[in-house]
Amino acid sequence: MIGRLKPDRDDPEFRNWVMSRVRSKGTRPEMVVRKMVFSMGYRYRLHRKDLPGTPDLVLPGRRSIILVNGCFWHSHDCKLGQRLPKSNIEYWVDKKMKNCKRDILSMKSLNNLGWRVMVIWECEIKNENLMHSIRRFLN
Ligand SMILES: [Zn+2]
Repeated sequence: MIGRLKPDRDDPEFRNWVMSRVRSKGTRPEMVVRKMVFSMGYRYRLHRKDLPGTPDLVLPGRRSIILVNGCFWHSHDCKLGQRLPKSNIEYWVDKKMKNCKRDILSMKSLNNLGWRVMVIWECEIKNENLMHSIRRFLN
């Protein structure tokens, strides 16, 4: 374990698990939310680089932002978010902690700029109340 700072790339099962959870533009949970918000009649801009943290969905007219967070990468308070790979624990703890700090900073900056922010977690995507929550937030 000592001195190994990179993920164990020899473990295909672990690699697949990680890759399936890599946060990137247009990941599946984000696509679900985009379709949902669009079908509700709202229009948004995507990944505006001029805003802190490059937020996922931006609704300028409503001064509102929706973030779709992967539970693992953003350390959600759920089973998946609290999970850590079996090897290279230090690497992952450090990485997840950095993500968390960045999330908090971005959120503060967005609030300071007058934006309202809603965070939707990966594990909430299938929640049947999600649409109501979004509508309540945007209205
Ligand atoms: Zn979660």
